[in-house]
Amino acid sequence: MDAPLRLLVHGASGRMGQALLRLCAEEPSRFTVVAAVSRRPAQRVVDGVPQFAASELQGAPAFDVAIDFSLPVAFDPILALCVGRKAALVSGTTGLEPTQRAALDEAARSIPLIQASNFSLGVAVLSDLVERAARALPGWDCDIVEAHHARKVDAPSGTALTLGAAAGQGGAEPRYASLRAGDIVGEHMVQFTGAGERLELAHRAGNRDIFARGALHAASRLAGRDPGQYRLADLL
Ligand code: NAD
Repeated sequence: MDAPLRLLVHGASGRMGQALLRLCAEEPSRFTVVAAVSRRPAQRVVDGVPQFAASELQGAPAFDVAIDFSLPVAFDPILALCVGRKAALVSGTTGLEPTQRAALDEAARSIPLIQASNFSLGVAVLSDLVERAARALPGWDCDIVEAHHARKVDAPSGTALTLGAAAGQGGAEPRYASLRAGDIVGEHMVQFTGAGERLELAHRAGNRDIFARGALHAASRLAGRDPGQYRLADLL
């Protein structure tokens, strides 16, 4: 049997980071978290996993793949570390700046990486349906309504923008509305409105494990690949 994949989890103390650590602990034969990185870890080791502060990133041990669910402000150092170590990167951080996207394109020349605003299978399928609906309904209004928990920092969500890009590919001109309330994990509704009729395509995330499982799946499929920027569909 292959040795477990060595992971660095970046953003480990966050909502997504905690889901990743819990799922990795359930599958020790597939994943070993060699470093859990967050802004200010409270302890050096938690449940056998070494904890690192963001300022100690360079001291992290060797890893095969970094999984990053942090914030745009934390993104540049983890990208640089992966390039420096020739390790793969799976990033789900949303709200990246155009310069950070350009840096991803550059990094993809030397490491395998995937950046996705949503790692759930349902949203991958929804994206495809939205593009097809937009193409089939020229001239209809297209509105994307998304809802997330009150502490989410970016709006519209990265997923809403990805769905909007799919609608744009199909010829629609999407508008966005965002709701921030309570502990909603993530809901997206794409509405096409014509004269006297309305089509709604929706996805509702019940928990964060769907994103974490998708990211772990992507990590296991990405390790050892040629440098390049992969899409979730390439790794399914
Ligand atoms: P969170 O606020 O709960 O956690 C953020 C994490 O980033 C924390 O561990 C924090 O310590 C760390 N962090 C902050 N500043 C840092 C720094 N300078 N250096 C290193 N680490 C730092 O956020 P969350 O809900 O876990 O979401 C994290 C990101 O993932 C957001 O961008 C969110 O939109 C995105 N997200 C993506 C998907 C997806 O499927 N792609 C799903 C859910 C969330």
